[in-house]
Amino acid sequence: MSGPLSFETLKSQVATGEVDTVLACLVDMQGRLMGKRFHAGHFIASAWEETHCCNYLLATDLEMSTPEGFASTSWEKGYGDYVMKPDLSTLRPMPWLEGTVMVLCDVLDHHTHEDVPHSPRAMLKTQIKRLEGLGFDAMMATELEFFLFEQSFEELRKSGYRNLVPISGYNEDYNIFQTTKEEHVMRPVRNHLWNAGLPIENSKGEAEAGQEELNIKYAPALDTADYHTIAKHAIKEIAWAKGHAVSFLSKWDHDRVGSSSHVHQSLWKDGKPAFYDPSDSLGMSQLMKHYMAGLLKYAPDYTYFLAPYINSYKRFQKGTFAPTRTIWSVDNRTAGFRLCGEGSKAVRVECRVGGSDLNPYLAMAVQLAAGIKGIEDALDLAPPTVGDAYAGDTGLIPQTLRDAYVTLKASDMLRAAFGDDVIDHYARAAEVEIEDFDRVVTDYEVARGFERA
Ligand code: ADP
Repeated sequence: MSGPLSFETLKSQVATGEVDTVLACLVDMQGRLMGKRFHAGHFIASAWEETHCCNYLLATDLEMSTPEGFASTSWEKGYGDYVMKPDLSTLRPMPWLEGTVMVLCDVLDHHTHEDVPHSPRAMLKTQIKRLEGLGFDAMMATELEFFLFEQSFEELRKSGYRNLVPISGYNEDYNIFQTTKEEHVMRPVRNHLWNAGLPIENSKGEAEAGQEELNIKYAPALDTADYHTIAKHAIKEIAWAKGHAVSFLSKWDHDRVGSSSHVHQSLWKDGKPAFYDPSDSLGMSQLMKHYMAGLLKYAPDYTYFLAPYINSYKRFQKGTFAPTRTIWSVDNRTAGFRLCGEGSKAVRVECRVGGSDLNPYLAMAVQLAAGIKGIEDALDLAPPTVGDAYAGDTGLIPQTLRDAYVTLKASDMLRAAFGDDVIDHYARAAEVEIEDFDRVVTDYEVARGFERA
């Protein structure tokens, strides 16, 4: 691994001409990189201190529209600026782009230079700080699942996303022969990201035709969110450069399984796993039990942040490896929360609720908030569910975005952890998704009812 880069190394690479471009990026509400491409000379001379962006970047939707109803910004407030403050510890090469490095920026208020509280990076930092106050560090990993298609993004967009052809003709779960055929995309993904300083573990075929998974080694939560965001971006760019489209939609076809982003979590103290207790039958410490009890109790409150779109809820189908219930189980992939590494130092909880469309900063921030609340209130953990978790009907995951919006808005836990302004901001974002969908006539409705209604 070669990244991250020191600022001094960047300066010498600019002097030799090895680097000529610096991407300064913030992470938006949707988990995308947004920002500017700097001439490296200008970046090292001045922009490294700060640059600016329009504040609608944290009050928009996937289509970059300007919905009304956000308290933070509006036409009335004139859509002013935010400060983008480069976090130089995140400076790293982007080896898949010529002469280019990138840096992630924190988003600050233009006047006070304080963190913008609803910025995803700030939200995660807030919860990490709370946890540090209790004496713990969060070690997390987020899995990235996605589909790889034969066609390019441009071809599919021009065709209206019709006749999408996944790159393989059959379920390629763990399939080495099929994934060999995809190495022209996945090998550069692994190697370029490794050379950018991301601790890549592996890629593998997933449980559907054309479905891929990338695993990155667990790390402190903020690093994990940065890795996830950079990896997702790189996968899109590398696939695009090879003439292929990828999609991180949770469910692009109702007849196929969806894509997830499982979140593995453990707390550590002084560099040692604090979730492990060898005297417990499953190796779970009391701390872990309280944390998990919080995760389970508040799952309906934070589901929105694991499934932020109308489409996200189409993934929660029985028998697809996507969960339907917020219960926990021991090494059982049918439950919303799976205990992994039981009886060992690697004991951890994997939240399987999130889709591949989640924003990792938000997903981790809200789960830390729920776990912290479980620790603070010393919540009791119910015994694990045994067998097929699809079979019961208690503890169902909110069924639609509208249900998740209602539980989000009513969550005292999230309001206490993040502040009313932040929760109202994201509740408004959920409303925007719902309002837009309610307005649109879909292909499904026309095909079903045009002649027969
Ligand atoms: P699976 O069989 O589900 O693929 P893996 O053993 O590959 O499980 O691990 C999945 C993810 O869990 C990896 O990204 C790994 O780095 C992460 N992981 C392993 N140990 C821990 C831990 N103690 N805390 C958090 N994440 C961990």
